[in-house]
Amino acid sequence: MAEEADSILILKTEQDLSGLPASLREAAQTTAATRQMAVAGIITNTRSSIDPFLTYSDQRALRKKAWRMFTNRGDNSNSHDNNAIITQILQLRAERAKLLGYPTHAHLRLDNTMMKSPEKAMALMEEMWAPAVARVHEEVADMLALAKKEGAPATFKIEPWDYRYYAEKVRKDRYDLDQNEVKQYLQLDKMREGMFWVAGELFNFTFIPVTDVPVYHPDVKVWQVNDKTTGQQVGLWYFDPYARPGKNSGAWMNAYRKQERLDGNVTTIVSNNANFIKGKEGEPVLISWTDATTLFHEFGHALHGLSSNVTYPSLSGTSVVRDYVEFPSQLLENWLPTPEVLNRFALHYQSGQPIPQTLVDRINKASTFNEGFATTEFLASALIDMKLHLAGDKVIDPDKFERETLAELGMPHELVMRHRTPQFSHVFSSDGYSAGYYSYLWSVVLAADGFSAFTEAGGPYDKVVAARLRQHIFTVGNTIDPAVGYRAFRGRDPKIEALMKQRGFPLASEKASRSSAKKRTGKTKATTSVK
Ligand SMILES: [Zn+2]
Repeated sequence: MAEEADSILILKTEQDLSGLPASLREAAQTTAATRQMAVAGIITNTRSSIDPFLTYSDQRALRKKAWRMFTNRGDNSNSHDNNAIITQILQLRAERAKLLGYPTHAHLRLDNTMMKSPEKAMALMEEMWAPAVARVHEEVADMLALAKKEGAPATFKIEPWDYRYYAEKVRKDRYDLDQNEVKQYLQLDKMREGMFWVAGELFNFTFIPVTDVPVYHPDVKVWQVNDKTTGQQVGLWYFDPYARPGKNSGAWMNAYRKQERLDGNVTTIVSNNANFIKGKEGEPVLISWTDATTLFHEFGHALHGLSSNVTYPSLSGTSVVRDYVEFPSQLLENWLPTPEVLNRFALHYQSGQPIPQTLVDRINKASTFNEGFATTEFLASALIDMKLHLAGDKVIDPDKFERETLAELGMPHELVMRHRTPQFSHVFSSDGYSAGYYSYLWSVVLAADGFSAFTEAGGPYDKVVAARLRQHIFTVGNTIDPAVGYRAFRGRDPKIEALMKQRGFPLASEKASRSSAKKRTGKTKATTSVK
């Protein structure tokens, strides 16, 4: 935090602002004014200012400076250098694991997860690594071609501070999608109705607005959720959609009361919270595609809570293991792009016409853009996290460990870990995600594979698959082993193929041509294969 607050990038002249969109330019100017510095602008050392700067700045030397400043946080041989304390944390974690009877901290942390063993988590990550890296090489080739078309010399190479910049150019060139055009079809109220409709189809729920329950703010609206067939109440759903001073940013789900039968038949009270900007009275609130996806995601958590049918509150609803809790929510995101939802609920706010298929096709096409970069920067961090915690009580020099491990993995030189070791707060600010950064990937593997259970059967609204989903996943909370529950739902263990397809990665059938391409460039080591 100190290094984010202390270091800044000074933009001295108007030319240093070249390429920046108006909003970023203004932010840089405001920061300079706030700090009372007579310069053209200031970029602070946080992800939310550095990433856009790297995406838009035409000044390569400044991009390099910004990238260096950001990726070296906590690694500057000063009083805020985290390397020594990381060595110490790793030693203490290894010692504690031994005291508790586990070979390493990774084994201790994974014991109470769906994955169960670090070896299985490593196998998953290694299986994804080669195709993700192969996709990076394709992305780099696309960027290089574009740079040369724009007049870059023959010797020009994409460096880590160039990736976001050229990726943005490729995006504009090939996948351009006008978010404002999409927004006109996404009215918040209609999207909420769409979610209710999906919940009716898959979960047999019906939503009835109620006004006779207490709310903590007038913006909060409440619905009673009933089983369509029996008419029995399963819970209350609170919706708090708008931003206001003092409210947390982002979107989340809460359970104010958990379903249980320990103390009578207690139904749940859940909420979904977001930060949309409230429109004028009577005007529809238009939201982005990403926001609509988030809405479905959080509603997935809510449905997980509402479906719960267990005895003990500690095992109820979303009280499941770390690498499983995001599965129901990630899964639900898949119903937004179904024609059943789009044709009924993604209606133009003026004409009432459903979103045109050509626009949906463009959204789908853009969804795989730059996934090589995103997956590889994520996996590099997840692999380092796991390897650091599998090393046992060996004394670790984090810098050296990171450098050597990435070289062994064949990390493409054009990008860097999403979180380098000295700034990896998921893993070192608490135990929370230590040996657990992989779980973000695991839940998307489950979600993609789980959704394909529907598409392989009768489609997204297949009643038989939906019944299995409820029976083995949504109703059981933490009362059964998630691996057993998943198998009962899916008929087999999860596979990564559906996610690979979703992210536009080369599939196993294309393996032969890919590996020969790799040999030609000589950039990746053939460590793992695509199974
Ligand atoms: Zn979530």
